[in-house]
Amino acid sequence: MDKPAPPTDGLAGEWYALLRTTGLHFQRCVCGRWRHPPRAACPECRRSTWTWEPATGQGRIFSWTVTHQAMHPAWADAAPYAIVLGAMAEGVRLVAGWAAPLDTLDLDVSIITTVENGLPVFGPR
Ligand SMILES: [Zn+2]
Repeated sequence: MDKPAPPTDGLAGEWYALLRTTGLHFQRCVCGRWRHPPRAACPECRRSTWTWEPATGQGRIFSWTVTHQAMHPAWADAAPYAIVLGAMAEGVRLVAGWAAPLDTLDLDVSIITTVENGLPVFGPR
């Protein structure tokens, strides 16, 4: 079974297209604040003038969950697998899969983001 495809329209679609073609980017407001997930206005200054800027892909594990029973049949063969919430160097949070053994997961582990099949994946740095 094919996995559901990421969105292709709106700001989320733009984000996934950049991820696939040129790597991880986040929005950055003219006031300097980074933001993610993509949205129209800055939560800091409310302005809507911003650019996509390349991200370092570096961060630390803020939290994670291990899925033992997949909620979608396309992921059934992958279980158990981890979904990680990364606290990224730019100050935003990013959700991604974990591309390393589950016993390497721990709070505050340094991570690096790669892209696999058009989706972000974390691994230890
Ligand atoms: Zn702003």
